[in-house]
Amino acid sequence: MECTYCASNLAGYDPVFVEETAADGSRVGAGGFCNYACLAAHIEDTALTDGDTCAWSPDADGE
Ligand SMILES: [Zn+2]
Repeated sequence: MECTYCASNLAGYDPVFVEETAADGSRVGAGGFCNYACLAAHIEDTALTDGDTCAWSPDADGE
């Protein structure tokens, strides 16, 4: 298996796996990363967190 971000062979790493599911619980995607650095870079590059926020956040002010 290869890193989703940099395509390195994960065999040489202690990889991090991510699984994404839809609201109904069905699996919509998954990825493997060398480490959290690759995961963080992938999130930034693909803007995965844009518009995401935790419902409980006291800072949510509807911006
Ligand atoms: Zn990587």
